[in-house]
Amino acid sequence: MSDTIAAIATGIVVSAIGIVRVSGTDALTVADNLFAAASGVRVKDFEDRRLYYGELIDGAADNRPLSRIIDLCLCTISRAPNSYTGENTVEFHCHGSPVVLADVLQVLYKHGVRQALPGEFTKRAFLNGRMDLTQAEAVIDLIESETSAAAKNAVGQLHGTISIKMDAVYNRLVDIMAHFHAVLDYPDEDIDEFKLQNYLDTLHNVEDDLQRLISTYERGKVLRDGIPTAIIGRPNTGKSSLLNALLGYERAIVTDIAGTTRDTIEEKLLIGNVLLRLIDTAGFRVADDTIEKLGVSRTLAAISGAGLVILVLDSSEKLTPEDYDALRSIPPDIPKVAVVNKSDLPAVLEENELKELGIKYYSVSALSGEGLNHLDEEIRKMFPDFEVSSYGGPSVLLANARQADAISRAAESLRLAIEALTASATPDAVLTDLEASLTAIGEVTGKTMREDIVSRIFERFCIGK
Ligand code: GDP
Repeated sequence: MSDTIAAIATGIVVSAIGIVRVSGTDALTVADNLFAAASGVRVKDFEDRRLYYGELIDGAADNRPLSRIIDLCLCTISRAPNSYTGENTVEFHCHGSPVVLADVLQVLYKHGVRQALPGEFTKRAFLNGRMDLTQAEAVIDLIESETSAAAKNAVGQLHGTISIKMDAVYNRLVDIMAHFHAVLDYPDEDIDEFKLQNYLDTLHNVEDDLQRLISTYERGKVLRDGIPTAIIGRPNTGKSSLLNALLGYERAIVTDIAGTTRDTIEEKLLIGNVLLRLIDTAGFRVADDTIEKLGVSRTLAAISGAGLVILVLDSSEKLTPEDYDALRSIPPDIPKVAVVNKSDLPAVLEENELKELGIKYYSVSALSGEGLNHLDEEIRKMFPDFEVSSYGGPSVLLANARQADAISRAAESLRLAIEALTASATPDAVLTDLEASLTAIGEVTGKTMREDIVSRIFERFCIGK
C-alpha cells in the first residue's frame, strides 16, 4: 500500500499539452471517478498504456449533470507493477494551461490524492526496484543536461551501463567472500584448496575496472558542467567585450548558478556542442594595493583550475609586460588560445611579435564579430569529447561525485584487501576489507544505502519526476 500522489509533470507554463501524473494504490479508483471516456469504457477497464479520449470532471463521473467539465483530454493508465513507479499510475494529457492543470490537481486532492514531493515518482521507482540509484540519477542528469554529449552519457547510464559494471564487480566479490567464509566456518570440510593466486588475480582485475571508471570522472564532469574557462588579459584589451560578443554570437545560455553569491556567478556558453563555464577574472595588472592583489590572486586561482584559458591581447597597441605576465601565468598543461582583439582598428601589434609568444592566436574584433567563427572552430577542435559521435558504445563516463566517491572508497578497500592477502594476513583481516569494498560498491547502485542519503539524492529532482 502506498498513498497516492500527483503532480504536473510538464512544467507550469502555457504549452500545447500539459500532463498530470498520478501514482499509488488508489490511482485507478480515483481516475475512474473523474474521467468519463467518450467510448463509455470505465477507467478501471482500460487497457494499459492506451490513450482514451474523454471528459475530466469535477464531481463523480457517473453523476454528469451536476459536474463541471475541467478539460477534454486524454487519459492513459499503467497497472502495477508495469509502470514507471511500479505502482498503479494514471496520466491525464490535458490542454497545457497552468489554470487547467491546477484545477486537475485540486480535484485530485479532493479525492484524497496528495501533492508529490520533488523526485517522489522516481524515488518510488527506485524503492520498488524499477531502477537502481545510478539509473535514477541518470534521469535527473538527462533532464538537466546542457549538451548533447552529456545527454548521451546520461542515456547510457539510464540504460544500466554503470549498474551492469557494478553488479559484475559485486558478484565477483561476493563469490570470493563466500569462499573465504566457507574456509573459515568449516575448516574441516573438504572445500577447494585455498587458491591465493586466483583470488589475487580477480581482485586485481576488479581494482583495475574500478580505477578505469574513476579515471573517467573528470571527463564526465566536464561534459556535464562545462569546461572551466578563464578569459584573461590586461585591462582594456576587450575581455568583457569578447565575452559579450561570444554570448551574443552564440545565443548562449546564461545561467546564474543557484546558491552562489555575486562573486562567483558564472556564465555558460555553448560553442557548437562544447559547453564553456566562464569564470570572471579581474584584469591582469601589476597590483599596487591590497584589493588589486586580491583580484590578481583570484585570477591566478581561476587560471590554475581552468580547463581552458583565453588570453586577450589588443592588436592596436604594443605588447606590454602585463601581457607577458598573463601569458606566463598559464601553467603549461592547461589548454590555451590567444585572441588578438580590435582587428577593426589599425594594427600596431606585428605578426612576428605574436608568433614569438608561442601560443596559437586568432585575430578578432569583439566589436564587429569578425573572426569569432575561427575562434569557435578552434575551441571545438580542442574538445572533441563534446562531439556526440566521439565516444559511444558501452562505455560511460562517470559524472557524479557521489558515485565517484563510493567507487574510490571501494577501490581503496580492495587495495587494502590485496595488501592483506599478499602479506598472508588472516582471512578475517582480508574479509573485513572486502566487506568494506562491497558495501561501497553497493552504495553506487543503492543496494546498501542509508535512507537519509537516498532522500537527499531525490531532493535534487523537480516535482513531477
Ligand atoms: P576589458 O577591460 O578587457 O574587459 O575591456 P572592455 O571589454 O571593457 O573594453 C575596453 C575598451 O575597448 C572599451 O572601450 C571597448 O569598447 C573597446 N573594445 C573592445 N573590443 C573592441 C574591438 O573589437 N574593437 C574596438 N575598436 N574597440 C573595442
